[in-house]
Formats: sequence, C-alpha cells, structure tokens
Amino acid sequence: MAISPRGNNRLQFTLDAESIGSRARAATFQTLHGTVQTPIFIPVGTQATVKAQTVESLQATGARLLLANTYHLLLRPGPEVFMKFGGIHRFMNWHGPVLTDSGGFQIFSLPHSREMNETGASFKSYIDGKTLLLSPESSIAMQQTIGGDIMMVLDQCIPSTAARAEAQAAMELTHRWAVRALEAHGDSPVALFGIVQGGCHRDLRKTSAEFLRELPFDGLAIGGLAVGETHAERYDLTEWVNEHLPACPPRYLMGVGTPIDLLESVHRGVDMFDCIIPTQLAQRGVVFTSHGRLQLRRTVHKLVDEPVDARCNCQCCQRYSRAYMHHLIKSDEVLGWHLLGIHNLTFYLCLMREMREQILAGNFAVYYRQKRGELMRSDEENPNRPPKKSKMGQPARLGDYQLHRSAQGFYSIRQISSGEIMHSVSSPSEEANKLYIEQSALAARLIEGGNNAGELVIWDVGLGAATNAMAAVHRFERCHAENNGANLRPLRLISFEHNLDPLILAAKHSACFPHLHHGAPAKILSHGSWRHASELLQWQLIKGDFRDFIATAERPDLIFYDPFSYKTDAALWTGEIFARIFSRCITKPTELYTYSASTAVRVALLSAGFFVAQGVGTGPKTETTIAFNRSEGAARHPLTPQLLGQKWLMRWRRSGARFPAALSQAEQAQFIDQIENHRQFSTPV
Ligand SMILES: [Zn+2]
Repeated sequence: MAISPRGNNRLQFTLDAESIGSRARAATFQTLHGTVQTPIFIPVGTQATVKAQTVESLQATGARLLLANTYHLLLRPGPEVFMKFGGIHRFMNWHGPVLTDSGGFQIFSLPHSREMNETGASFKSYIDGKTLLLSPESSIAMQQTIGGDIMMVLDQCIPSTAARAEAQAAMELTHRWAVRALEAHGDSPVALFGIVQGGCHRDLRKTSAEFLRELPFDGLAIGGLAVGETHAERYDLTEWVNEHLPACPPRYLMGVGTPIDLLESVHRGVDMFDCIIPTQLAQRGVVFTSHGRLQLRRTVHKLVDEPVDARCNCQCCQRYSRAYMHHLIKSDEVLGWHLLGIHNLTFYLCLMREMREQILAGNFAVYYRQKRGELMRSDEENPNRPPKKSKMGQPARLGDYQLHRSAQGFYSIRQISSGEIMHSVSSPSEEANKLYIEQSALAARLIEGGNNAGELVIWDVGLGAATNAMAAVHRFERCHAENNGANLRPLRLISFEHNLDPLILAAKHSACFPHLHHGAPAKILSHGSWRHASELLQWQLIKGDFRDFIATAERPDLIFYDPFSYKTDAALWTGEIFARIFSRCITKPTELYTYSASTAVRVALLSAGFFVAQGVGTGPKTETTIAFNRSEGAARHPLTPQLLGQKWLMRWRRSGARFPAALSQAEQAQFIDQIENHRQFSTPV
C-alpha cells in the first residue's frame, strides 16, 4: 500500500502496514544514503561519534540511521572541516544515513547564556567565547555543510511544563521560523522536518500540528517533550498530536526514551526516535535485558559466569561474563562502556525490529499488551517515584552508602559502616546554602569582584552527593542571570572525593535530591568536569585522597571543608592536614568553612596557624567554624564573625579533647604553649 505524500516526495515515504487496534505503523523511506525502515531508533552521535562505539560496532548492533548534533559540530570541529571532507559521512566513515538536529535544543538548554529575538538566538561559544548567531537560515546552512540526509528546522524549545502564554509565543515563533527554514532549504535534495511545539497544552499542540501539516515538509517531529512532563502526559500528548498529523510523512518523537517509552509511542503512531539513554546508561553499568533492567555495578554480579543476557546475540553477551562486565564497570574501564553500549543499542534496535515484524504480521495489538507487561516490569526510569525499598525493607544502597529519609521528609546519604549521615541536621541544600554559600558571601564576591579580580577558587573537600558544589553552581547561575553575565568574576570549583558512590546513588534517585536536577552532576560523573556555557564557571573533580592533592591543586580563596566527621575520618581533621592546607595558601587570603565546631577541630586549626572564628548555626547546631589564614581575615569578612577568645581558651584548658592523640608529655606542654601564645589570643577580642 503506497500513499502519495503531501508536499515533497524526497523520502518516497511508503506505508507498509498499519495496525488494527493500535496506531502503530510500519513504513519505508529512501534517503541519499540508503533505505530506512520504521519504526526506527536513531543512536545519538553528538560529536560525530556514538560514545565509545566504532562504525563497525554500530553496524553490528543493527543501527541504520545516526543523529549528529549541529550545535556541537558547529563549535568543534567547525564548518571548515566538513567542507574539507565533503560532509560528515566521509569525515566519520559512516556511510549510512545521518539526521542532523537544528542546534536549537542545546541553545535553549542554556537559558542564561544566549539572547533570543525574532531573528534567532545568539550565544557564546564554549570553545572560544565568540558570539554566534543561530537563525533558521544559519541552522540550515550549517546542517547543509555537515551534509546529513535529514535536517531539522530551528524551533524554540521551552520546558514542557511552561505556562500557556509562554508556550504559545514559542510555538508561534517556531512556526514563523519553520517557514523561513523551508525558504532557506529551497529545492535541496536533503529532507527537512518541521517540529510541532505547544508544551503540554493540547489546543496549542493541535494548532501546531495543523499549521505544519500544510507546509511541504518531508517529515514532522514532536518536539519539546521529555523535558519535564510525566510519562502519562507525554503518552497522551503524543497520541493527541499524531491524531492531527497526516498518515504521511514520517513522525519523529525527539529525545525519547526508554524501551517502554518506545513501545508506548509506536503504539500511538510514532515512527522515529532518538535518545542518549542506551549509551549513557551503559557507561554507568545499567543494561536492559530480556529479564529486566540490571545494574552491573552491584556486587551480586561479581562472580556470575553468565552473559548479561543469555537471549542476546551481541558481542558482549556472546563473549563475556557478567562478572567481567561488573569488573570493567567498577574499574571505570572504557571497554566496559563500549561493550555495554553495544548490548544496550542491540537491545533497542532488536526491539524496534521486533515491533516492525509484529506490525507487518498484523499482530502488534496483541504483542503490545504482552510486551508492555514485560518492559514495564523492567522499567525503572520513572523519576517521580520515591526510592524503592528492597524485599528486606532496606533502603536503596550502593557500596557502603544508602538513602536516608529524615523524619522531616528530606533525603540524605548515609554511610552504612559508620552510620554517619551527610548533612544530617537540616535539608542538605538548605544547610549547604546557609553554611557555605551565604556565610562565605559567594554572590557578593562574584559580583563585586568583576572579571578583573581574577579567578575565585573554591575547594569543595568531600564532594559527597554534590550538595555544596551544586549550591555553589546554582548561586553562580543566579548571579549570572541577574547580571546578564556581565562583569562576573570567573569561578573555579574544585571538588575532592575518593568515592563517587554517594553521588552515583543520589543521582540514581534524583527525585529525592532536587539539587541534582541539573546537567552538571552527570557531566562530573562521566567526564570529571563541567563548564558553564559562559565559560565563567568551571567545575572539576579531583578523584582520590584529598591529602595527595593539597600541595598541587590550584590555591583556593575559599574552602568548603565537609568530609565525614572526626569520628569517621579522623585523618582529615588533624593539625598536620590543616598545617599543609595553611602552607599551601600562604600566598593568598584564604577562608575555610566547616560544619564542625568541636574543640578538637578548632584547636587543630589553631595549631596549624589559622585564626579561628565562630560560624553561623545551622539546624540544631548552634555554631560552626570559619578559619582564616590572615589575622585581619575575620575583621574584613562581610559578616565580621567573632574570633574565638579567652572564654573559648578557658573551655579548651578544661577540655578532655585538649591534645591531638599522638603527643608525648613534653609535646603536650609545647602544644599548650603554642595555642596560648597564638596571636589570636594575644590581642584582646
Ligand atoms: Zn547483549
């Protein structure tokens, strides 16, 4: 059955079969680099490479069509490289079809670093800081230079939860840009898809579908989903939009999703999908299998001499054991990412082929009901559920860490061996803000400093679940937005952590940790660094024992000192450690903030040479501690905190925690002398 398409016929789109009792359909179309059969899943090759895969391994998974990101490729390697190579196919040695996105999604994901008007969006390159314009016309020109087989129009992406007025304005702009893109595209033999927008508003989605279906596009995409709405809303809107799209041309649901999302959306009439999930989860050791979703980091796989999925024919399952994959993932070996990426992509592409076969066989409706149960059981993607409890009633855990829900209802991470809870006293983000961000007057330092003040360096000692680091990132972004990025002091945030399990665990249950609803923590986990689009904030992870890096890490202005407590991690609270920090910072004024107000910690800081003051209270703690490496530090501090005085010294004299444990009698006398003669106590305070 061939249906003659509306508008253009570049793709020679043919419907092969439509289901009864379902909107699912199978189709075939032709691109400049070969035939495509739908439903199809499109692996994402952001940087002209699908992460950790070769062209050969991709072909073996059954991948047919790849997606490349115009925004990233425009910035690097840049158009001149694609001109030199005559396009992306020869450049990356992939000779199948390629779909290029418009670049819009990335630009609009960076709300603080671009300016938008009718013409387009101007933004700053994160590579060299140059200002670039992305317009409907320049997007088409760039996509033509990249040389893919299917191009996308530039659209304005907004959160799918945006209010009606905002959603309508974005949709109308998207429509005007769609017309301009078609004009710029002219009679190019490359296909061009329009994008339906309208947020979560059914009437807008209908208007958008009806507007775009009248234009000569070669395909129509549903954009702006999978960015904030619930699964049920997404399924509902997908079905609603498809009801208002013609049978021809192909329909493409952008950025979706998990295996169950693919099944549900094919059932609702979608032909094409792209998503980073299969390769992204592979890097974290998460795999989709015929018996459910597995986390290969878990120790239960350590000795398992069986393939990841005995029913899978991929290279990973044919040749390697779960124990080996567990080992590779635990060791952060690239081979683990590569092999699990192969497996997950194979799982996705097999699922798509299976759906097509069932549609062609006229059996999809039955298959859908049965497969749905199977995939639902294994699907844990719904981020809005509280963390699962295992059969034993134990909270979710990873390694030595588990989720902890406080009586007040907020979540923290608890170390199982010590029982210690990170940020136990109040909601983690609240404590981070009060103790580290507000008390250090971070915003004022960023704004008043200006670009000329040089980089502000923060040491975040004990990344944990990234609570303090993300509080700093969020404060930076707020300052950046409120000042339009003008004259903001550059910030370098250096986090030290030897065990990433707390962050991985929290990220896995991000519904419980609102501070992680941001792209940066994932980047920190995958790449060890993240940059704000403005280039004014760099966040870097130094993985390992903090003590090994004191002498070499960039000298800090501020230190957020938040390791586990003295009781759990005594090595990080000694006078010797503080002395090494003190001597590293000798050339610049430095302030150290910590939650501990214990006498032992304060005396250790004093013995290292610091001037020690009372910090603000947080939750039930009546005070915390600030240490300065300059005598005038406290007086110059915006909050002029109170230096510890004679009263504290008297308490110390009476204290059982007077000395570091290792001191001999003679050393004790010397220590008393050193503390009592500290300059802090010799001047009246
Ligand atoms: Zn496999």
